[in-house]
Amino acid sequence: MLSCSKDRMDDKVKTFSKFGDTGKGGITRLSLSPEALDAREEFCKRCRALGMDIKTDDMANIYATIPGELDLPAIMAGSHLDSVRQGGNYDGVLGVLTALEAVETIITEKISHKHPITVIVWTNEEGARFEPAMMSSGVICGKFDKDLMLASKDLDGVTFKEALEASGYMGKVENRMTPDKYRALVELHVEQGPVLENEKVDIGVVEGVCGMINYEFTFIGQADHAGTTPMKYRKDALYAATKTILYLHEELDKLDGKLVYTTGKISAHPNIHTVIPDIVKFTLDARHQDAEVIKQVLEIIKAIPKIVEKCEASYEKAWARNTVEFNSEFVNYVENSAKEYGYTAKRMYSGPGHDAQFVTDIIPSTMIFVPSENGHSHCEKEFTPIDNCLKGANVLLQTILDIDKN
Ligand SMILES: [Zn+2]
Repeated sequence: MLSCSKDRMDDKVKTFSKFGDTGKGGITRLSLSPEALDAREEFCKRCRALGMDIKTDDMANIYATIPGELDLPAIMAGSHLDSVRQGGNYDGVLGVLTALEAVETIITEKISHKHPITVIVWTNEEGARFEPAMMSSGVICGKFDKDLMLASKDLDGVTFKEALEASGYMGKVENRMTPDKYRALVELHVEQGPVLENEKVDIGVVEGVCGMINYEFTFIGQADHAGTTPMKYRKDALYAATKTILYLHEELDKLDGKLVYTTGKISAHPNIHTVIPDIVKFTLDARHQDAEVIKQVLEIIKAIPKIVEKCEASYEKAWARNTVEFNSEFVNYVENSAKEYGYTAKRMYSGPGHDAQFVTDIIPSTMIFVPSENGHSHCEKEFTPIDNCLKGANVLLQTILDIDKN
């Protein structure tokens, strides 16, 4: 079977790991920072050397394209080059580099293809410098208001608009991806979780992105002196919140085993060691591919009494997203490609959000996952062995060619 080059793949990963290198095994490459611009420059340099045509749109997304034999809409593959603070060398960038490697293989092996093929680089996927995450795909796919996004500021007060204008990558609105110009998107990404590695699976066949809900709970008690208030007179909001967190864990554990839920944020007022807490807030993030299970989570939340341990309990939806299903035909191509190469594959849903989940609303899309060592991601320990990167590149290449044929 056709194979991408391991040496070239290795060189790509190593080269891009230099841009924003923290010296501790990872990178800090915030969107449109000097380090991120260096990575973009290297990307464009490599694309030009391959004879690709490079365009950017008004959100500085980069489209590097090789022509096909026919005048057809292009097949896109790619991801993002920005990282979180002290992030890893694989999240996002591997999707760009495997796409570039697939194109390089097509060119050097002179593989015929009808459709043009575009390697895409999304701007500001992480939202680590300018919130929110998946900003530019969100604007293009009609999820976010562009003016609001342009006004987003980093910690130094620089707006996204200013960074965009200074980057040299701001192009025309007409260059945005639209369904008439693009046929498909395939985004390869690291799993960012431990499942593939633990189950010794090479390729994650991503069927969609899990739906999620995020609720904020508030408990109101009475602040009193920690030394003088007997236990029976207390209205301790932290105690009420703790009891509720335990209740949620006990009940949510009874639901489907694929449900994941997290209380990642908690605050206690006044947060002084001699005062009984009077206002405590915590969040619950719950994710599952099946809307029915998410509904069950809501039933459990709704069953929380209005008064818990003499404190007022209330909750409010912070935000939610529905499960996104990728194009089933493309999902099959990914699964079959993995099989043809003799790789082990597993169908799964993504927990984290990715640009492809917005794009698939307007252009049929899918994703490919490769394992993350020990499940680590968004940290310097993030690692995917080069053999797994190569397997991912091969499956990506074959999936592009399958889309091209059909
Ligand atoms: Zn990513």
